[in-house]
Amino acid sequence: MKLLTKDLLSKNYAEHFALFFTDDGIIVNPQTSSPILQFAKTVKQLKLVVNEAYLDDSSLIINCHSALTPDQMLTERAYINNVKSFLATTNDTVLGQRILRAVHWLTWDAKFQYCSKCGGKIQKVLETTEKKCSSCELSFFPNPFPAVMVLIQRENELLLARSAYFKPGVYSALAGFIDIGETAEQAVHREVKEEVGVEITELKYFGSQSWPFPNSFMIAFKAEYLRGEINIDGNEIEDARWFHLSKLPPLPPSSSISRKLIESVILKE
Ligand SMILES: [Zn+2]
Repeated sequence: MKLLTKDLLSKNYAEHFALFFTDDGIIVNPQTSSPILQFAKTVKQLKLVVNEAYLDDSSLIINCHSALTPDQMLTERAYINNVKSFLATTNDTVLGQRILRAVHWLTWDAKFQYCSKCGGKIQKVLETTEKKCSSCELSFFPNPFPAVMVLIQRENELLLARSAYFKPGVYSALAGFIDIGETAEQAVHREVKEEVGVEITELKYFGSQSWPFPNSFMIAFKAEYLRGEINIDGNEIEDARWFHLSKLPPLPPSSSISRKLIESVILKE
């Protein structure tokens, strides 16, 4: 992800394809259901004000806002979709990953404006994702927080839980952030014990994913149930229960590693 100057943008990238992000989401063409739009043409058509532009491989990531109302946008064959809603509808994993990366950067960039050491204003370094304090010159990078996720299986059942901020009815695998001094495996055992009170065994690595909602790097595992009754902590999660593989509740979006983790078990059975 490289920050581009406006000069460079108009000179070299007018014909490039771009993903356009506003404060409300990602701009999509309703006819093609695609957010991949030609840069200069779209800026003109939708009266977009470009706040900043980045180059991610060969495609542009544009942070912008539009002077048009939603109805005016629709007549120009465009609308703003919530990013998570868009991700739930696309099967294009390369595009999905590009969108996740862009949101990760744009969110971090918007939140991170001042130096944590001296309080000075921080500035972007051209052509990188680095930021530097204008006063003490300390460098900052958009490093995600490491977190773990675990899907616990007991014969033909999965232990799934839900947080209050999930969409109604949706359940997922257990997850939590890694504490200082912990290994990922230790974090899994601790989180499971804290959140649902059971013990697990046969912990196996499944995969990982950078995830911008919020800023985390998720390391996913599978595990077998060992012993104990479900006893939820009531803080981080509001419900947890065993679901038979044939009667699973609504699950997280297909772009998330939690969904891939759960589907890997369903497909195996
Ligand atoms: Zn500083």
